[in-house]
Amino acid sequence: MNAPLLHDAVARDGSVAPAADASAAHAPAALAAVDPEPGWRAAAQRAAAIAAQYADSVDREARFPTEAFDALRRERLLSALVPAEYGGPGLTLVEVGAICETLAQACASTAMVYAMHQIQVACIEKHGNGAAWHRALLGQLVEHQWLLASATSEENIGGSMRTSACAVEIDGAAFRIEKLAPTISYGAYSDGILVTARRTAESTAADQVLIVALKADTQLEKRGSWDSMGMRGTCSEGFRLVATGLAEQILPTPFAEIADQTMLPVSHTLWASVWTGIASDAVNRASSFFRAQARSKPGTMPPAGPRLAQAVGMLHMMQARLSVGLEAAQVAQQAVDGACQADTPLSAMLGFASDMNTLKTSISTTALQVVQEVLMVVGMAGYKNGTEYSVGRHLRDLYSAPLMINNDRIAQNTASLLLAQRPAAPGRA
Ligand SMILES: Cc1cc2nc3c(=O)[nH]c(=O)nc-3n(C[C@H](O)[C@H](O)[C@H](O)COP(=O)(O)OP(=O)(O)OC[C@H]3O[C@@H](n4cnc5c(N)ncnc54)[C@H](O)[C@@H]3O)c2cc1C
Repeated sequence: MNAPLLHDAVARDGSVAPAADASAAHAPAALAAVDPEPGWRAAAQRAAAIAAQYADSVDREARFPTEAFDALRRERLLSALVPAEYGGPGLTLVEVGAICETLAQACASTAMVYAMHQIQVACIEKHGNGAAWHRALLGQLVEHQWLLASATSEENIGGSMRTSACAVEIDGAAFRIEKLAPTISYGAYSDGILVTARRTAESTAADQVLIVALKADTQLEKRGSWDSMGMRGTCSEGFRLVATGLAEQILPTPFAEIADQTMLPVSHTLWASVWTGIASDAVNRASSFFRAQARSKPGTMPPAGPRLAQAVGMLHMMQARLSVGLEAAQVAQQAVDGACQADTPLSAMLGFASDMNTLKTSISTTALQVVQEVLMVVGMAGYKNGTEYSVGRHLRDLYSAPLMINNDRIAQNTASLLLAQRPAAPGRA
């Protein structure tokens, strides 16, 4: 991570230096190395092959998946979502969901870090409002394949993303933020962190902004380690974060809008892609075990057949639900681009929000059920670590899914959304 600072590209007055200018710096030959399909899919598969090679050691040692991220950088997949005008390949949310799913079949921690990074990219791209600083940031991200992390949770606030205790301090053109963050996944390995905070010291807890803090101007004082049940390679340690920079690094859109329009739908769909990928790899292991069992006793049906059929059926339901959710979120993201959200009826917005919530809660719980079913199919060969049928890591990784913004908290929010919606007329969806 020896990339030049963004400050080199953006002068203190906010003007963009030629090297980072959208038109000059984004020559397609130099920066847009990811071809449209099928290039991005092959690139994801190459990175996944490397991630798979190191998945067990990443898990055992609870270490950052360095080899996988070196590969993702080589394949230029960290800028997958960045549009062509900033030098990226401009893949769609559906395509990035497919990359997350592919990576998750190899190493869940790699896939989750990748998904979390893409969520931050989407927030900047959709809500930077084309400001010079944010345009330059996207250009630098493409050029240097920067990795972005997130600090939304806060000590004493927990997973209530829509409230903050800390507040931004503004002094002329500069800002300072101090936050006690219980969990910043891969914070120590990131090039920038998106931090939520109250707009001013006088603002209410819900009047929040989203700040892009850069590594060079951010101090991270470690406050806890990450020796967790699963997702051990995400290195989701606690920190006291102190960051400074230019006030223009604060995204112009209120965080409430960023959360509703982008952060929540993109998080829920990409997380769901990761969990579906983990479950899918477990089902593949059960299928090979089942075929090996059948081969060993020709002419007989192995006893766990119905359980495998059940797991495959549940996986297909997850994949179908995910596909619908990704399409809906992609359409909604295009509406953010077209700035036509104001025209969207309230009932449609409430329906979309509850749809994104139930996508997260249902896929996070079903993925666990699928892998539990797989464990029953493969038995001890799956329970033991280090066999070709092991699913212990899959299960441990998936236990984070219902907690990553607690499903009970989300279900309560969904119930409020459902209460606010008028029932559909008879015979209409
Ligand atoms: C693998 C992983 C990576 C993460 N990475 C990041 C990251 O990079 N950045 C970041 O900011 N955060 C991150 N988080 C934290 C995450 O986003 C949530 O903030 C966190 O999971 C919530 O923590 P909590 O369960 O302690 O707190 P809370 O959500 O406050 O919940 C505490 C407990 O209270 C109960 N509870 C709370 N509210 C309700 C409610 N409304 N209804 C019913 N019960 C309720 C639940 O039983 C819950 O277990 C990560 C979490 C995981 C698992």
